[in-house]
Amino acid sequence: MATILDGKAHADRMLELVRLGVEDRKARGLRAPALAVVLVGDDPASHVYVRNKAAACARVGITSIEHRLAADTHQEVLDTLIDQLNADSEVDGILVQLPLPKGLDSKEALHRISPAKDVDGFHPMNQGLLLEGLPGLRPCTPTACMSLLAHHGLQLKGLRAVVLGRSEIVGKPMALMLLEQHATVTIAHSRTQDLPSVCREADLLVAAVGRPGLVEGSWIKPGAVVVDVGINRVEDLALGERIFAAEPRKLEVLKAKGAVLCGDVRFGEAMQVASAVTPVPGGVGPLTIAGLLANTLTAAGAGR
Ligand code: NDP
Repeated sequence: MATILDGKAHADRMLELVRLGVEDRKARGLRAPALAVVLVGDDPASHVYVRNKAAACARVGITSIEHRLAADTHQEVLDTLIDQLNADSEVDGILVQLPLPKGLDSKEALHRISPAKDVDGFHPMNQGLLLEGLPGLRPCTPTACMSLLAHHGLQLKGLRAVVLGRSEIVGKPMALMLLEQHATVTIAHSRTQDLPSVCREADLLVAAVGRPGLVEGSWIKPGAVVVDVGINRVEDLALGERIFAAEPRKLEVLKAKGAVLCGDVRFGEAMQVASAVTPVPGGVGPLTIAGLLANTLTAAGAGR
């Protein structure tokens, strides 16, 4: 049976470090770091994420400032708000919650955020610094995954790592961070041929695709470490019966509540083959917020 890599416990450790950093600033007479969150429209999941971020800020003493805009907001209004936040010396970090409603250009918004306040680490300047292996604000999810792996003592040097997914926010930066730590990295995606064989080569498998239960137990090399970034809501009972065959409790929840959250990896099957696995929920999700607050503290420090 694999070890469960407890993301919640590691997030608590990361948040405690941030809290101590905030305390230290205050002891030096500096104000608390401030994170501005821009939420456009009514996407229910985004509202939940923003609420969770505000609660985490309160826990560590970071000031959280929320800016809500209507779903029919024009790009110029959003751009003007970002310009104001860029110029505001009381704001250290800016986060535009994605996805933006139709009609708004998320790339334009993200590229407009000052790189020094880009706590999501999505600005091309910060992505370029990562590519060059230089310090900068790095994307929260892969940074937090790396922190979790380091905490569990996984030696990445020389390891075969496969990253499933090539998005700018998870897959690509994750691959770069693993490469920086001297892993041999393969990036797989929707056009990869014979995905199961590619995955089976991995000593470390990171799944970030957004496809519930895509990765079967038979795709995992015995003893591999599996990091499941995917967060998927499953409502389809037939799908649930297929992907939760080795995870009866998930199936029970699906039947009882009509929906259940799961990752890209079939957790029950992975537990029988891998040496360590992150669960969903309670794995990478809590880590991402902790990474965001760590970046906010860093951005505040850089502003001094
Ligand atoms: P994207 O949709 O931007 O990217 C998905 C990637 O997966 C793409 O590269 C795509 O390939 C690839 N892909 C899709 N389907 C398949 C398939 N059948 N086989 C192989 N590859 C496939 O997603 P994100 O990177 O933004 O997010 C991925 C998942 O991680 C989602 O479930 C998301 O909710 C979750 N997430 C979780 C976070 C957390 O805090 N835990 C934070 C961020 C994301 P191609 O490029 O060829 O289209």
